[in-house]
Amino acid sequence: MIIKDKEFGEVVVRRNALSSGVRFSVSTSGRLQMSVPKYTSEFLAKRFLNQSREVVREKLPVKDPASQRARDAKKKILMKKAKEYLPYRLEYYAKLYGYKYDRVRLSHANTRWGSCSSNRTISLNIGLMQVPEVLRDYVILHELAHLNHMDHSSAFWREVGAHDPRYKEHRKKLNQFSPGV
Ligand SMILES: [Zn+2]
Repeated sequence: MIIKDKEFGEVVVRRNALSSGVRFSVSTSGRLQMSVPKYTSEFLAKRFLNQSREVVREKLPVKDPASQRARDAKKKILMKKAKEYLPYRLEYYAKLYGYKYDRVRLSHANTRWGSCSSNRTISLNIGLMQVPEVLRDYVILHELAHLNHMDHSSAFWREVGAHDPRYKEHRKKLNQFSPGV
């Protein structure tokens, strides 16, 4: 769950069966994370956070709220751009190459550019709006190929290569970018 906090911005709360107390950390994107025992309610999590403000401020290299706000604003803009672009680009390539997916989702996970689930839902990261178009297209073609191959077998890569002959280069280039906002 995510708590919106006046001082720390969006705080990611992870319920962890193994943790007996509250632990704070900062994600690579600079967001505050809280790990709490499994059955902690939102109300309790907020209270923990309130009681720990001093500790959090001192111990963690958190972040002035201004930069968090800037990030949140940037995310909003990316989401808007992504909504107006990614579903249409996906549809374009799906039609062009005869793929049938069920649904498209826009995500802002920090670790992956896209995914394709067995129920034929394709997720695309809004961070794609920050990379060159050829790399964006590579990710779309990669996820579409997963509709036929739910693995990274050589048959899968052959299919990707049929639609993006320079996929190896694109894949490498994409590694220079991070999907996190
Ligand atoms: Zn893949």
